[in-house]
Amino acid sequence: MKSRAMVLEKFNHPLVLRNFDIPNLPEGAILVKLLASGVCGSDLHMAKGEDPRTPLPIILGHEGVGQVVQINGEKCDLNGKKIKTGDWIIWNRGIVCNNCFWCKVSRQPYLCPNRKVYGINLSCKDYPYLLGAYSEYMVLFRETEILKIPQIDPVCLVTAACSGATAMHAFDLISEPLLSKTVVIQGAGPLGVFCVVAARTLGASQVIMISGSQQRLELAKKAGADIVLNRHDINEEERTKKILSITGNRGADIVIEASGNSKALLEGFRLVRRGGMYMITGVAVPQESIPLDVYHDLVFKNIHIQGVWVSDAKHLVQAVDLIAKHPEIFERIVTHRLPLSQANEALKLIEERTALKVAITF
Ligand SMILES: [Zn+2]
Ligand SMILES: [Zn+2]
Repeated sequence: MKSRAMVLEKFNHPLVLRNFDIPNLPEGAILVKLLASGVCGSDLHMAKGEDPRTPLPIILGHEGVGQVVQINGEKCDLNGKKIKTGDWIIWNRGIVCNNCFWCKVSRQPYLCPNRKVYGINLSCKDYPYLLGAYSEYMVLFRETEILKIPQIDPVCLVTAACSGATAMHAFDLISEPLLSKTVVIQGAGPLGVFCVVAARTLGASQVIMISGSQQRLELAKKAGADIVLNRHDINEEERTKKILSITGNRGADIVIEASGNSKALLEGFRLVRRGGMYMITGVAVPQESIPLDVYHDLVFKNIHIQGVWVSDAKHLVQAVDLIAKHPEIFERIVTHRLPLSQANEALKLIEERTALKVAITF
């Protein structure tokens, strides 16, 4: 049996379609046939050599949804249910060591320095090779945290693996209930739209989205945003005024950066109220530094700034649950579906910002 896969062999070069033999499974591993794979903005950064974690050659793709073909041994999912051939599953893209300070003592496994991530830092030159989701088949190591999923359109679920889980991680770090709170979200990509649905579901009283794309703002509105502000139509001063006017001149209780651009923080600091919280979730690759006015933006405001790095199994479970409740929204987030052989076109659609989210379907 063979698996076709799209391989990044050289930075800034198109991915190449390669045929792999399906290897003998390591003990406890699962062979999964992909049903859908999300194309993430990170994949584009990796293809350009901007993500320092990327080994070459690599099969990209860390947002897989698939069907179990073979299991070498016995394995249960995160709910303790035995995994069987034919099950539809999703998995935590990261595998941690369960042995270090972050895994054992601080209990922040997403910070494990030994974290291995499918499609991000596992090369296809190493056994068992099929370690990214731009592939017909993948091998999931025994340590992988797996969740059985409902048989809804698998394309809806691709965002759960990465942006969805990261969004849920951000909300997990907010200690107070969202009830009666105003949440401003910067950036209406898949991460930002997921944050809209999460904020709404968790009880926020007002959800405001800022983005430069009218098409994305429409979707944010459908996803539950009360107010959408187009950066190109309403300048920063007017946006600040607008947000102050609807929050009793205080500013937002919570601002979530989901734009992936550090420069957005300069506005975010203005929008968060004194004593509020600023979650930085979108910045995923090294970027230029930005100036921080420590007195005015941080200390005088007594704000809490929270960086959010990836996610763990709990957040994946929450993201899947949220999607299963609102599949119609998440189906809309995926604006393009392409076959595996067109993965390069998929990356182009992301780069040109033509697509909100692209899924590779099989
Ligand atoms: Zn991703
Ligand atoms: Zn660890």
